[in-house]
Amino acid sequence: MRTVITAAQMFSAQREVARPFVVIEDGVVTQIGDSAAETLPAGEVLDFPTATILPALFDVHIHGSAGHDIMEGTPEALDTIGGFLGRHGVGSYLATTVTADINVTLRSLEKLAQEIRRPQTGAQPVGIHLEGPFLSPHKRGAHPASLLQKPSEHLLNAMWQAAEGHVRLLTIAPELPGADATIARAVALGICVSLGHSNATLAEACRGVALGAASATHTFNAMRAFDHREPGLAGEVLTNDGLFAELICDGLHVDPTAVRLFWKMKGRERGILITDAMSAAGMPDGHYKLGELDVRVEGGRCLIEENTIAGSTLTLDKGLRNFAEFTGAPLDQVLPLATRNPARMLSLDDRIGDIATGRSADLVLLSPDRTVVQTFLRGKPQIAV
Ligand SMILES: [Zn+2]
Repeated sequence: MRTVITAAQMFSAQREVARPFVVIEDGVVTQIGDSAAETLPAGEVLDFPTATILPALFDVHIHGSAGHDIMEGTPEALDTIGGFLGRHGVGSYLATTVTADINVTLRSLEKLAQEIRRPQTGAQPVGIHLEGPFLSPHKRGAHPASLLQKPSEHLLNAMWQAAEGHVRLLTIAPELPGADATIARAVALGICVSLGHSNATLAEACRGVALGAASATHTFNAMRAFDHREPGLAGEVLTNDGLFAELICDGLHVDPTAVRLFWKMKGRERGILITDAMSAAGMPDGHYKLGELDVRVEGGRCLIEENTIAGSTLTLDKGLRNFAEFTGAPLDQVLPLATRNPARMLSLDDRIGDIATGRSADLVLLSPDRTVVQTFLRGKPQIAV
């Protein structure tokens, strides 16, 4: 069957098209054209006269949504999370762990490997982000202190094997003993290394980068504060043009002024928007789990103990909308932060983060007020019509 989607405009990496049409056959984009200049191909036409077509979004840091935690690893959990993400414009994501008992983690990784192999109806997990257990006890955020581990190649190998090689991203604090060898091992395995949950000084951060780290985890959060005499990891992240950098843009984790600083320093080539969302995303205020941790959600804010923020209830469409609003930058300028940049960081940009003929038909339609009106994943609509 052939579906022809028409809209007011389209942003892809290659071009901006006014009055575009996108032809989808068997879940794949087979033609992109200009409906003002060309006759529409035969097929079922779905017209979104005021909408903008964008590539589906990619979230490399998400722990759960819609009442489920990623580490449950069951088809039911992943279907529910994937369906929710699909309705929020996300096509692909990295299933992100939190620090847990190592045996619990290994079992989760085994289950997640199966889910990554299974074609999903909603958003597709395309790999795993290990957030923990190699984190600094001084900047652990919501990760339980008693379960943190000293970085170890042996443990990394065990997690890699349990995940059947699907680990794509590792968050690690570079100043910990054993971090050097563990970072080197991760790089050798083809895992992208992200520095975070870290009290690293500038020198320690630079050492992590020299060993091959390519990104930073939720910039500003769970990171030594920037100081003009000891700029720390934040100083390196902001000034090293070669590093990617994640940001949680929910207006709670990072002040809009710091968001503008991030935009000036990382720009449209290196910034990456993430949600860090937990199971409470898309759910009412109340009590939820993040891994094995109890989290209370008040006004959409996820809190543990004496008001430490733990994860978020953000969705990536909202994060993109907030980012455009806080920076004043046009949508087409900030779009790569939620599409192409995470894909480039993980060398997945040949299949994720763009709309082009021959690629999977993963696209999202935004209304003029930048809310999701429909998402197509592998050509299938995600919002019931
Ligand atoms: Zn974190």
